[in-house]
Amino acid sequence: MDQRNIGLATSQSDAFEHEVVRHSLTEELYTRDRGELHIHMNGAIPMSTIQHIIADELTELPSGFLLERDLVRKTPCQSLASYLTPWQILRLFPKKRENLDRLSLAIVASLAESNVRFAELRSSVLYLAALQNCSPTEALERLIESTTAASNHFGMRLGLILTVTRGDYSSVALSTLLQAYQNLGEPDEVIGIDLAGNEEIACPGELPSLYRKAKDQYGLGITIHAGETGRVDNVRAAVELFSADRIGHGTAASKDPYLLDLLAKQEICIEVCPISNRLTGAVPVDEAHPLLEFRRHQVPFVICSDNPAIHQRGLADDDATAMAEGLSASDIYQQFEAAKRYTFIEGLD
Ligand SMILES: [Zn+2]
Repeated sequence: MDQRNIGLATSQSDAFEHEVVRHSLTEELYTRDRGELHIHMNGAIPMSTIQHIIADELTELPSGFLLERDLVRKTPCQSLASYLTPWQILRLFPKKRENLDRLSLAIVASLAESNVRFAELRSSVLYLAALQNCSPTEALERLIESTTAASNHFGMRLGLILTVTRGDYSSVALSTLLQAYQNLGEPDEVIGIDLAGNEEIACPGELPSLYRKAKDQYGLGITIHAGETGRVDNVRAAVELFSADRIGHGTAASKDPYLLDLLAKQEICIEVCPISNRLTGAVPVDEAHPLLEFRRHQVPFVICSDNPAIHQRGLADDDATAMAEGLSASDIYQQFEAAKRYTFIEGLD
């Protein structure tokens, strides 16, 4: 069975059968050092750490929520809303400073276990400020301290990406985050800004110019979640209006050859999250994964894990899934190099 056939077979039936997928990676590929360019902090907290924190903070679970059932997503979901069920509780903690330290350490530990040597962690600092009852500046400072301590402990290079949620208040949120960044003296640990959330929601007209300004003024990298839910115009807007350096998911772009050529020409990198794309339905079970189109049009891409703890997988499993979807071992090696080239972290050796 060639790789293409494996891709079809896995997407139809046993796509996430751990051992089956993992076998497509050689030992050398599986154990190789990696870079992670698209991972959400709250989707990367191991289950045992979550259990510990919610017990410690006496977090009240929504009625009917079962941790073992509702905190993990291992098979394709009926809807994006269903995939997002775990966030019903992921947004309820950490309320305590020490639990932020605890979860940062656990996230970095699990990344280290997947041979990740450099990682860009995404976080919504404003939700952290609300939970910890502190200012956005204090929340950002705490986040930097926690993640720096964790990265020092494991000898990993880490950078932080500040995530803004799409919607009416996204301009205000971005301005607030940038003010916090300025208040802290533009710390090197912050490397980029992200836009995430419901792609059907329109953003304020001035938002793209605020992103461009942050890029020009502070040298922050820009990555935009776009085209995950079929809206190809969001990918185009990310490129043409937001001056994005990278696109999160971008699966819808595969339907537009002109856009693919534009991405290739401008060397905009797509953060492909193969396991997530199948679980959310961004790539329907009966369709080939768009990364084959990305490759055909020579659009740069990196393989990322998005929310590995929710999937109960590591980054190597995403590489293996990408191979099951049709990539060759040589493609996987190439994207390791692309991760070094497109990371917003500077001075990697
Ligand atoms: Zn994401």
